[in-house]
Amino acid sequence: MATLEGAVVIVTGAGRGIGRAIAEELGSGGAQIVVNYGKSKGPAEEVVSTLTSGGTKAIALQADVSDPAQAANLIEQAVSHFGRVDALINNAGITIDRSMKNLSIEDWNSVIQNNLNSCFYTVKAVLPHLMEQQSGTIVNISSFVGHMGNFGQANYSAAKAGIIGFTKTAAIEMAKYHVTVNCVCPGFTETDMYTTVPDKVKEQIVKRIPLGRVGTSNEVARAVRYLIVDGDYITGQTLNINGGIFMM
Ligand code: NAP
Repeated sequence: MATLEGAVVIVTGAGRGIGRAIAEELGSGGAQIVVNYGKSKGPAEEVVSTLTSGGTKAIALQADVSDPAQAANLIEQAVSHFGRVDALINNAGITIDRSMKNLSIEDWNSVIQNNLNSCFYTVKAVLPHLMEQQSGTIVNISSFVGHMGNFGQANYSAAKAGIIGFTKTAAIEMAKYHVTVNCVCPGFTETDMYTTVPDKVKEQIVKRIPLGRVGTSNEVARAVRYLIVDGDYITGQTLNINGGIFMM
């Protein structure tokens, strides 16, 4: 996509954190943004009002993307509002961290459902539109933990590794429709998700990062923008934005 100007972009979980930064980064570049939220209605409306006051077209749409019907409805509402869709950013995610001896079946299922299955639900729903248009791009937000594993994150690391495999297959299947599919894998990033980490653990984390600090949401958002605007010949790849904590 040579320019963001006028492109219609759906960002899941865009009321807060990395999703919000992605919505603002792409919106400020001229894209029209669908700000999806699950529970954070107020913050999502704030993002829309920031974007529209800067001259960007944006709407907030509520949908729990872990529910297949709601995920499909999100895509249909977006297309019915803007007339098309050019990019889908699967950003929504949750953690329920416990070591495996304490991890319940519900904790496992919930994290798989919200992080991994949600990506399939939205991609499945957007696919017919992108096939008809013969264009489009999808970015799935995975995590360095999908490559490395992490103590207390069996459910999350399995979901994030699953996203990487899913992305590669989707890239192969969708290439003939001129649709690219890639992953961005953030390292530790300063958001609400990271603030739940105890301070003592944060100190240890920073020591493990070669660049000596956690990342920002804006740094992840700029990587997403790069893939969308300059990634015409990039598909099935994972772009790591992690300060060097994991190297391929
Ligand atoms: P966050 O601040 O906790 O925000 C999570 C976002 O996901 C919220 O906007 C939330 O929306 C949304 N969400 C969760 N479940 C949803 C659902 N079922 N339907 C719709 N929206 C849902 O987390 P973050 O750090 O920005 O994380 C964003 C993505 O980056 C996630 O996929 C996460 O796994 C990944 N990531 C984060 C880090 C990190 O260190 N922060 C590192 C690597 C990867 P509502 O509040 O509206 O429900």
